[in-house]
Amino acid sequence: MMAKNPFACAECSIILPDPEKKNDIPQCNRCPSAQVTTDWQGYVIIMDPERSEIAKRLNVDRPGKYALKVNIR
Ligand SMILES: [Zn+2]
Repeated sequence: MMAKNPFACAECSIILPDPEKKNDIPQCNRCPSAQVTTDWQGYVIIMDPERSEIAKRLNVDRPGKYALKVNIR
């Protein structure tokens, strides 16, 4: 059985934790109105955004798990 991709925020690319209820769709607590999607690629953990080139590229300013590319139609 394949594991389902977690949701990622289309706005800030953060990977969202699984919702408590199985079929709920999680929301980004930083951009609550943003779209979320399971259609993303590349997984990166940013520990220290101030020193990370990837963080700068992704416009990330807080540590966390991020998707490198979020596909939004
Ligand atoms: Zn977000």
